[in-house]
Amino acid sequence: MYSEIQFEDTIAAIATAPGEGGIGIIRISGQKAADIAKAMFQSPGGSPPELISHSVVYGFVTDPSAGEDSPRLDETLMIYMAAPRSFTREPVVEFHCHGGPVVLERVLAAVVSQGARLAAPGEFTKRAFLSGRIDLLQAEAALDIIRARTEEAEALALRQLEGALSHKVGRIRNALVDICAQVEAHLDFPEEQIEPDAKKDILTAIEKEQLVTRTLAEGFSEGRLYREGVRTAIVGRPNVGKSSLLNLLLECDRAIVTSTPGTTRDVIEETLSIKGLPVVIMDTAGIRESHDMAESEGVRRSLKALEEADLVLAVFDMSCPLHDQDRLVLEKISGKKTIAVLNKTDLPQMAETTGFESLRTVRVSAKKTQGLDPLREAIYDAALAGRRGGADSEGIIITNMRHRDALVRTHEALGRAALRLKEEAPLEIPALELREALDSLGEIVGTVSTDEILDRIFSEFCIGK
Ligand code: GDP
Repeated sequence: MYSEIQFEDTIAAIATAPGEGGIGIIRISGQKAADIAKAMFQSPGGSPPELISHSVVYGFVTDPSAGEDSPRLDETLMIYMAAPRSFTREPVVEFHCHGGPVVLERVLAAVVSQGARLAAPGEFTKRAFLSGRIDLLQAEAALDIIRARTEEAEALALRQLEGALSHKVGRIRNALVDICAQVEAHLDFPEEQIEPDAKKDILTAIEKEQLVTRTLAEGFSEGRLYREGVRTAIVGRPNVGKSSLLNLLLECDRAIVTSTPGTTRDVIEETLSIKGLPVVIMDTAGIRESHDMAESEGVRRSLKALEEADLVLAVFDMSCPLHDQDRLVLEKISGKKTIAVLNKTDLPQMAETTGFESLRTVRVSAKKTQGLDPLREAIYDAALAGRRGGADSEGIIITNMRHRDALVRTHEALGRAALRLKEEAPLEIPALELREALDSLGEIVGTVSTDEILDRIFSEFCIGK
């Protein structure tokens, strides 16, 4: 539907991550891309380039705006991709330069001086979508691949990029269009009652799609965990072994551990992978180290981590009787999905075990590296426990809240359509509900989209994607 769109302006951005790197890529997309390449590229002998689509040429990138002799900015490999065989379906040029911030900025500035403008975040992907090359699901999957924290999360996003979910939604859509057509066919003959058999068939078809949409929507609670990770807080009074436990969990996972600043500046997040499930540990352990911080601030941060957590690891020191503060921890975590980590089992055990009856418990010694496997097992089980759904029969998991919301609305509209049919309401009414179900479903792949939805999705991307 959008395939005829042609954008007036040509966009450009540094497509590689900021900072220093082996190579850095400047990406240009739009009608002026080829002219810009001709103006800026110089072959080693000094001649302008002959542009051959999808081939790599070696030479220099110059700045024609800097005067007659166009000073060379960098050595480069240039790739030209003629429309429509490019990511955006527009003419695209890439300059593969040395990956230093200064050189890339200078090349980008020269590109802009030749008539391109700086791209907004996600604008290349947005053009790919608007030109009909990919649907919204695939655009979002591209983002998920960039952000994936574990191999499983990446594999899920890749399946989405390849179109598994798009096909599934397409099949549901076809079924709904059929149902709509059947109902609307009867609208043309208002004087005739709908045959009981025909009505029964329509109801059966609606119920079938209700089940399909519900199963998909329910998979989200597990899918979200794969996409965003299981947010986990380690809590406990001072000295019970929280830092030791965290280090131990991270050490055993060293290859894949990543540290990123948390959503709030207070907390560092460490991500580890347990059987492919990303577990994001909100690390409040460093808090004690800043001596000038008021005790209450530390408490505030721990409580905040607790609030945000999908899972709590509550650590207790079994080598001494429980303190009042331990009891307080037990109180604070009530109602949260919790594993009680009974630590220091290498020492004589002095703590009573009352208070833990209703919790999953794992006995460990962080110091002697004991009990780690059962702890990882318990984290995995607890994180996924009670989550209904997961993959549907074709192994498709919804990982995105936007998709889930649209599926839930589709499901609800189908429910109302079935109800109205059963109540013998005038057929216009179930027909309207069915239309609404179709619209909600269309939002997922972008056949129905608003500027607001598009802006929200693409603004999440980085510039250059
Ligand atoms: P946090 O304040 O809860 O983060 O506790 P730390 O991880 O800093 O540990 C406090 C003290 O307990 C340190 O001296 C650790 O070496 C010690 N510790 C931690 N885990 C164990 C354990 O399993 N056994 C023994 N014997 N000591 C431990």
